[in-house]
Amino acid sequence: MKPACPICGGRREPGQTTFTAELGFGVVVVRHVPALVCDQCGEEWIDDPVAVALEAVVEEVRAKQSLVEVTDWRERAV
Ligand SMILES: [Zn+2]
Repeated sequence: MKPACPICGGRREPGQTTFTAELGFGVVVVRHVPALVCDQCGEEWIDDPVAVALEAVVEEVRAKQSLVEVTDWRERAV
């Protein structure tokens, strides 16, 4: 049984979210990131391995110093 949403008690279902990170000099947007999404309040949870991979994307963009970087999880996930 899946753990209920700690905020509203709703069900957490596998879904997708858009991850954004503010870097100061720019922003990173990663679309279609796998996440658990509450079917009632819409709160999202990203699994640790996914969060680690997102952090790597952020570091990559930080190194490039892009003002805006929009990418898609499905193009990166292997
Ligand atoms: Zn909820």
